[in-house]
Amino acid sequence: MQIIDGKKISEELKSAIALEVSGLNSKPGLAVILVGDNAASKVYVNNKEKGCQEVGFNSIKINRDENTTEKELLQLIQDLNNDETIDGILVQLPLPNHIDTKKVIEAIDPIKDVDGFHKENMGRLLQNNPTLRPCTPRGVMTMLEKSNINPSGLDAVVIGASNIVGRPMAIELLNAGATVTICHSKTQDLPGKVKSADIVVAAVGIPRFVQADWLKKGSIVIDVGINRLETGELVGDVDFDQAKDVVNAITPVPGGVGPMTIATLLENTLLAHKYRNKL
Ligand code: NAP
Repeated sequence: MQIIDGKKISEELKSAIALEVSGLNSKPGLAVILVGDNAASKVYVNNKEKGCQEVGFNSIKINRDENTTEKELLQLIQDLNNDETIDGILVQLPLPNHIDTKKVIEAIDPIKDVDGFHKENMGRLLQNNPTLRPCTPRGVMTMLEKSNINPSGLDAVVIGASNIVGRPMAIELLNAGATVTICHSKTQDLPGKVKSADIVVAAVGIPRFVQADWLKKGSIVIDVGINRLETGELVGDVDFDQAKDVVNAITPVPGGVGPMTIATLLENTLLAHKYRNKL
């Protein structure tokens, strides 16, 4: 049984990025926008800034208060679209309810859309012609590749169909040759579907939701979930302690997909810098 070490793989990825950056004439620049003061978002934004420092990027963190209007936010994005020193623009989600998230994402110049959520980048992924790909699913694909797991010909079940994780994850696996089933809250007989899978990706947001007896013996389990229990403990969407005795490979939480998401954001920012400078 293999525990897929996302922390280690992400460190290797960051070292490779830092090495490449050291040979560039100009440093990639990432702007991260945080609206309001959601505690979890603050942690994510700080981790992204720390990641930028580690690999030698310029990063700017832009904090706007909860009452920022949609118009003001769209103007800020426009200014960053026109800023030659900025390669990547990331708006930390969720946004306050009075702001239309879709409008904000679509205001970002697709070439600077390092989250990969713009319809142009999602559309390209769907057509199997991707450029900037959503970070979490792309990070999962890197983890599989670095663990010598080739999804081609395997049956994959993705639990969760959000625009951020589930949907692009399913398309990534399809593009890699897997036969993919996407499950969600209306799916019937979820345990039966999971039982058929060689690869299971859980992105639900319910602590220890996926039970060990749902899993096929020898399967590969990727746990995207990050759930904080009342005790303060961080757990995934899979019952890791039981599941590890059934599977061939599994990602832990923490130390699995989480660090890969940030490393992939840095990878996307470097890619955006290279596209913009025709390197
Ligand atoms: P989300 O937008 O809330 O989507 C959850 C998905 O799970 C939805 O598609 C929903 O179905 C489905 N679902 C809910 N209850 C279900 C049930 N009982 N059975 C089957 N499917 C069910 O969440 P998300 O943004 O995709 O995030 C999912 C998890 O990943 C969260 O724990 C989040 O914190 C974590 N996350 C981690 C990273 C990372 O870097 N590791 C990045 C992003 C997110 P419907 O579509 O039918 O509503």
